[in-house]
Amino acid sequence: MLWFRYRAGVVEESERLVHVADPEMPMGGSYLVSPCGRRFDRGDLDEADEPAKFPPVTGQDRAEPCLMCVMRAMLAAPARFDRPEQE
Ligand SMILES: [Zn+2]
Repeated sequence: MLWFRYRAGVVEESERLVHVADPEMPMGGSYLVSPCGRRFDRGDLDEADEPAKFPPVTGQDRAEPCLMCVMRAMLAAPARFDRPEQE
């Protein structure tokens, strides 16, 4: 999965959530579409670290992930994420 967020200065800091895109998803070339239904111009983006924990730890100096994107990534690769409970 490809994690990314807006570059600093493109949008307000509160809008700079970390989103994900499926690398296998057909790409339009100059933009990415995330599972939360948003379209991002590649030129406005920075790569981001994969969020390590869910729910995310807030109040630290780290990017806050988009929850819908995180859940989509968990469904795609559940073994790679810590889960609070095993079923
Ligand atoms: Zn998202």
